[in-house]
Amino acid sequence: MSEREVELWSATVVQHHRLREDLAVIRLEGEFVPFAAGQSVGVVVPQNPNVGRRYSPALPPSLDGKLEFHVRAVPAGWLSGAIVADTAVGDRWQIGAPSGRLSVDPDAREVIMIAGGTGLAPLRALVLDLARRPQPPRVFLFVGGRHPRDLYASDMLWLLDQDLDWLTVIPVVEEIEDPDWTDEWYERVRGAEGFGEDHWLQGTLAEVASSYGAYTDHQVLVVGSPPMVRATVRALVDTGTPAGAIQVG
Ligand SMILES: Cc1cc2nc3c(=O)[nH]c(=O)nc-3n(C[C@H](O)[C@H](O)[C@H](O)COP(=O)(O)OP(=O)(O)OC[C@H]3O[C@@H](n4cnc5c(N)ncnc54)[C@H](O)[C@@H]3O)c2cc1C
Repeated sequence: MSEREVELWSATVVQHHRLREDLAVIRLEGEFVPFAAGQSVGVVVPQNPNVGRRYSPALPPSLDGKLEFHVRAVPAGWLSGAIVADTAVGDRWQIGAPSGRLSVDPDAREVIMIAGGTGLAPLRALVLDLARRPQPPRVFLFVGGRHPRDLYASDMLWLLDQDLDWLTVIPVVEEIEDPDWTDEWYERVRGAEGFGEDHWLQGTLAEVASSYGAYTDHQVLVVGSPPMVRATVRALVDTGTPAGAIQVG
């Protein structure tokens, strides 16, 4: 079934927040979409109505129809570059077909979340959803990027880390220095309070997340690019985390 055939709801862009040359946060309001936090939905945008893609809402479902997506432009991609560069307030998006099983067990006591890039989006939705529980589990959220400026949501994660005593955010970068070309979009938002050099752990997400030993009493959620997910799951299993405790998104 193509994405075009599964359009079910529509929503209007109310904010297009370009955070990096290759990344935008898009907020919409529209019909209630009955997805579960952690799922992805089908998306069709006016820039190319014949092409549908899947994106993961970064907010849990809300009755007032608020949606947020974090979209990274893939080089030579059909759609993501247009979403990042050309989305405008007032655009109508078609939303369809929630799918995916990424979730936190109701009786989970400790949860390890590992997010590469925009893999943060569904995990952030899950964290906000957990905040509605009377007794949220203890959550450790590893967020990783190659360079410091790839941690595009540092200020928002900082606030969550400060506000929620059951959440610890662990920023991870492969290289301590940013590349030497200027990202004008990053320069505009640079300086907002967020995680800094003192907080970053250096390495890949696979290396850093597995360096704490086996997660034997935890639920582990890993979301990101296929190579990042593969490497991370392999490192976790190699260090003793039971494969059955790991969910990937
Ligand atoms: C369940 C699910 C949830 C997703 N959630 C998000 C999300 O929240 N945010 C987000 O930005 N993207 C997300 N994606 C990826 C998204 O659906 C698109 O694949 C992505 O935006 C690229 O679309 P495109 O049309 O620009 O590229 P395409 O035209 O589909 O691909 C162009 C080229 O880029 C390669 N490519 C595609 N995706 C990637 C990638 N991620 N990294 C490197 N190369 C790639 C393709 O193999 C192809 O060679 C999700 C995908 C899935 C399956």
